[in-house]
Amino acid sequence: MKQQIIIPLEEFPEDGITLSGELDGSIFGIDCDDVRSTGPVEYNLEAQLYDTELVVRGEVAAPFRLRCMRCLGEFDYTVAIDDVSYAIDVKGKLAANITEDVREDILLELPGYPKCELIDQECEINDKFGDFRLDKDPQSGVNFATPSGNSVWDALDQYPGR
Ligand SMILES: [Zn+2]
Repeated sequence: MKQQIIIPLEEFPEDGITLSGELDGSIFGIDCDDVRSTGPVEYNLEAQLYDTELVVRGEVAAPFRLRCMRCLGEFDYTVAIDDVSYAIDVKGKLAANITEDVREDILLELPGYPKCELIDQECEINDKFGDFRLDKDPQSGVNFATPSGNSVWDALDQYPGR
């Protein structure tokens, strides 16, 4: 499978070119327990050359398997960006390689704190412990008010000799 998206610039057609295909998911270089690439990057792009500037626009998508930071369950998550846009100075170049731009854009869209809610999946930890925490009595703990309703500190302020 393709490892790079390279746009040839020689004899570039005036009305632009369309690029679509798949890019090997190994370009991400991530394969840990928390984030795994599970398939190719799909891209559908249009490129236009304006003088020495190459403008590329379109959509990219890539599937991942993430681990929920809360319950450690795994879930599938697809990063899909439908409005990528690159402007590349191609003066003196015969081809432009936009692999790194696409790679970065997708990585930036990965959630920094993956959790089940991202895909509307119920988080197991929430079911087991979430309600328990909310049921905790908010009145428990040290009571700072005196029987008169004033705080302990008001009472101290009224102490003669202070
Ligand atoms: Zn979870």
